[in-house]
Amino acid sequence: MPLIEPNRSPLLLETQIQSNTTHPPYWLQVALDVPLEGVFDYRSDVPVMRGLRVIVPFGRRQLIGVVVACPDQPSLPPESIKPIERVLDDLPPLTPAWLDMAKFASDYYQRPLGEVMLPVMPARLRSVAAYTRAQSGDGPVAKQLAKQLAQLAKINKKTTVDAKHDIAPEQRTEDNRKNHLTAFQLIQSTKPILQLNTAQQAAVDTLTATDDYQTCLLFGVTGSGKTEVYLAAAAKVLESGRRVLFLVPEINLTPQFAASLQARLAPYVKPDQIALMHSGLTDTQRQASWVRAAMGDAHIVLGTRMAIFAPLSNLGLIVVDEEHDPSYKQQEGLRYSARDLAVWRGRQDQATVVLGSATPSLESWAQTQRGFYKRLDLPERAHQTLMPNIRLIDTRRADLKQGLTPQVIDAMTQTLEQKQQVLVFLNRRGYAPVLHCPSCGWLSQCKNCSVFAVLHRDQPYKMRLHCHHCGQQTQVPKACPECGDQDLQAMGRGTQRLEEHLTEIFPQARLARIDADSTRTKGSAQALFEQVHAGLVDILVGTQMVSKGHDFARLGLVVVLNPDSMLFSQDFRAPERLFAQLMQVAGRAGRHQGQGQVLVQTGYPEQPVYRALCQHDYPGFAQSTLEERRTAQLPPYVYQALLTAQARELNTAIDFLQHGRDVAQAWLDTQPAPEHITLFDPVPLRVTRVAQVCRAQLLVESPSRAALHQLLRAWLPALGTRHAKGQLRWQLEVDPLEI
Ligand code: ADP
Ligand code: ZN
Ligand code: ZN
Repeated sequence: MPLIEPNRSPLLLETQIQSNTTHPPYWLQVALDVPLEGVFDYRSDVPVMRGLRVIVPFGRRQLIGVVVACPDQPSLPPESIKPIERVLDDLPPLTPAWLDMAKFASDYYQRPLGEVMLPVMPARLRSVAAYTRAQSGDGPVAKQLAKQLAQLAKINKKTTVDAKHDIAPEQRTEDNRKNHLTAFQLIQSTKPILQLNTAQQAAVDTLTATDDYQTCLLFGVTGSGKTEVYLAAAAKVLESGRRVLFLVPEINLTPQFAASLQARLAPYVKPDQIALMHSGLTDTQRQASWVRAAMGDAHIVLGTRMAIFAPLSNLGLIVVDEEHDPSYKQQEGLRYSARDLAVWRGRQDQATVVLGSATPSLESWAQTQRGFYKRLDLPERAHQTLMPNIRLIDTRRADLKQGLTPQVIDAMTQTLEQKQQVLVFLNRRGYAPVLHCPSCGWLSQCKNCSVFAVLHRDQPYKMRLHCHHCGQQTQVPKACPECGDQDLQAMGRGTQRLEEHLTEIFPQARLARIDADSTRTKGSAQALFEQVHAGLVDILVGTQMVSKGHDFARLGLVVVLNPDSMLFSQDFRAPERLFAQLMQVAGRAGRHQGQGQVLVQTGYPEQPVYRALCQHDYPGFAQSTLEERRTAQLPPYVYQALLTAQARELNTAIDFLQHGRDVAQAWLDTQPAPEHITLFDPVPLRVTRVAQVCRAQLLVESPSRAALHQLLRAWLPALGTRHAKGQLRWQLEVDPLEI
């Protein structure tokens, strides 16, 4: 046994006991964030525990990697194996359970292990430069962190006190913006846990009945008090000493949730035991959260999809709120579903997983029918208010004023007279979707993409054309580039133009607009939502950003404009998504008093999805849609993987995919049951060109998940590097959400 250097941490002592070999060199397999299959062999003079980070030489660079195995024998000739440069012992090792989850994600989503493990960590913990800086500058990472945490705790305390003294909301917002405290802006004074109603209590009883794995689908209509169920279950789990992981779909929802958690769970968890993880945090904040989770100091981790990788141990409960939300699917890099990983993680950690929604994904609904998930129903609203009354307004025979029907204008007028708020939902940002020349028919196009350039009003009198795909912004031409006509016109309407029209129609009303453009600066979304909650807004115009989760107290009317565009997409999930979105936005109405009104302007009132919506009939909608999916052999009755190729020329991408298809076919021909797999033909994406790059895709499908994965494992290595080579790049997505 080698002598332990005096400055080694106790962690390494433990390793010594666990390591199989007793003599140096010790062989290590290290996962690195490089686009190469497999892990890399290194040697060390000291034994290193699995799950620790190490700095290693890689080519001419130095990289931080994670030790994933300590084999007795190296897989390469020993003399070719380089030594590691140092062991990073500033954090406890990632647990075997965490490493297993990463391994599972790597296998399932077909991505090298290092490209799974490293990118999910906060940047500073995986960057050699940051590590070296921290070492030479303010001392070890841990010390620096301790300082940050102390500061954070101080600010938290201060904010809590402010809230108790009931400082005017505007004042509070201003202060918060100053100290950039995204985390705890909405802190309320402690509230007792509410007396649960029968359905809620039954749900909590089931959720807390076992210490073992279970997945429950909490199907609760909007306003039914799902949050209260999560909180009561969390209280029980925290009491037993286990940890809770809360996933929410939107960064904007984390402050509201963090506030509820603190207020309701005060007896079970201290404010500094709640850690946040989402992309709205600074590197420092993310690192602090990660460290607290890894050290066992965080009892609750609350965050967006990335939080599924939080290094928590001793998990008792994982909550996935609004489980149907597409934002749980990562759309780049490791294309994982945080919801699906949550179920996997729950099983492995023997935790309860609760997926909550008023409009569950059909995948999860089908799992309840197969008996894999337990269904828990909250059929009524918690405040005993009625479900909103949803009516369709047929626009085909209507006399529209700025796109609004007389019924909508009347209903808005009445609602405002009753001092209630109106939400106008239009899922299209900008001023107008396209600029148009009435004399020759010219339409504004993006030069780089096969889409229209969208007209935006950047400042009160300044219009520009924006491409929503590549981001390019250009001047509005003074005259038509084709015919020279100077009378170019905005066609259609986005939220900016809608806001303008509404100001004309309702000059007395106080308007606010919430969309990606109005909330670009940090903290502005939060500030806008606080204004709405404080009753400083009469009419709220918004995109889907407003539909999620928010509990608006005085919202009496919801108006939905132009939903039809979402209906006629080629994606087979379009009706499911539309139903969920409309149900969710409708559910913002009348949550606290009276009966909320919802008016949906449509040119297709006879569509089944609208019918089901008016009757609040999710189960009926799910039933008929699942039936269609079964007949058409679509998910969840088959499993899919999507190979996407990108190249300057469309033909290059198509040729690559065709070649890929041939390779897969050749492999299938050697298999005993090739009929289990369907290989489709390569096709261009609907938006074929983005930022001068053309995109095409190839769909692979099978009723057997195992068969599909067997193909993927054999197939992908034969496709060559997925990084730009001869201008071609490709990626694979397992369980794609959009096709
Ligand atoms: P959901 O997430 O299901 O749409 P929420 O959890 O936001 O619903 O709850 C809706 C409203 O009902 C909230 O204002 C909440 O405080 C309130 N509420 C929930 N449960 C109860 C209860 N048992 N008694 C009284 N009010 C409740
Ligand atoms: Zn023209
Ligand atoms: Zn573009």
